[in-house]
Amino acid sequence: QAKRDGPESIRFFDTEMERRIRHRACIQRDLQSTIERNGLDLHYQPVALDTGEVVAFEALARWYHPKKGNISPGDFIPIAEESGQILQLSRWVLRQACQQAASWKRPLDIAVNLSPVQFQHEDLPALIGSVLSETGLAPKRLELEITEGALILDCDRALVTLTKLRKIGVQIVLDDFGTGYSSLSYLRDFPFSKIKIDRSFIEKIGVQDSAKAIIHAVIGLGHSMKMAVTAEGVETEEQLKYLRDEGCDLIQGYLIGRPAPIESYATLTGNIVSPNRSIYCSGGRLE
Ligand code: C2E
Ligand code: MG
Ligand code: MG
Ligand code: MG
Repeated sequence: QAKRDGPESIRFFDTEMERRIRHRACIQRDLQSTIERNGLDLHYQPVALDTGEVVAFEALARWYHPKKGNISPGDFIPIAEESGQILQLSRWVLRQACQQAASWKRPLDIAVNLSPVQFQHEDLPALIGSVLSETGLAPKRLELEITEGALILDCDRALVTLTKLRKIGVQIVLDDFGTGYSSLSYLRDFPFSKIKIDRSFIEKIGVQDSAKAIIHAVIGLGHSMKMAVTAEGVETEEQLKYLRDEGCDLIQGYLIGRPAPIESYATLTGNIVSPNRSIYCSGGRLE
């Protein structure tokens, strides 16, 4: 048998690959049963104006595995994309997030991440339309976050889909800007309402001068195309100050708030009025 007789490296590679395949199969099986019994969770991360006023939340999928503990979406989303389970998962996330946002006393926006796979295999405008009518959420409060990967596969089809989505009245946000293929023609051709500068640039503020130059340029570019600009992964006051000085419209990151169950943000959504006014003022501002 080649495997037994082969050099050490091949044997290692085989075992390593087998291990990975088994891991994937195991995750897929467990994910399937979790989706079916409604066992996934959503955490919500606040997005604020540069004044600190929270104006939106981003819904982020969470999976607590009874044996493996928390599995990061960075791990299970790619596996679900490969297996096609992402369609079922995304439908759940969309319904859940829209239903949640519709229940808030304050009309904050809700951002939901879409997978490139959905652009290939799903009638997105129909899905979005039915979720909006089921939940009663105003279309303009829904922000659909897509990455450049969704556009590159079939550009013409993506443009048709995005145009239909804009007609429904939802916002389209270009997520993780700067990490993908970042073709400037995307900004010219697609009807984005917002672009989000990826965290990898924000974390280099004060570390690498070129990061500042890129952020400065992206904010200018976005504004000249009438798009709002969000910075993601803002963790320090220094980063916040720089982004404010540059006129960045929206701030998201641990400095504003971590992704958490929506109950921990009930004062911001207006669903409970906190007796402790020193933490949150009535304007929904984080102090
Ligand atoms: P993303 O859409 O770019 O989401 C932002 C990620 O950055 C989140 O990671 C969030 O927890 C993290 N983050 C936010 N602020 C900070 C910060 O200040 N510092 C640091 N170090 N990290 C911060 P998370 O929740 O692990 O999600 C990772 C990615 O998984 C998301 O990136 C998104 O692409 C994907 N994802 C999550 N939920 C869904 C979903 O429901 N559907 C789809 N298709 N993708 C999802
Ligand atoms: Mg996102
Ligand atoms: Mg992002
Ligand atoms: Mg990101």
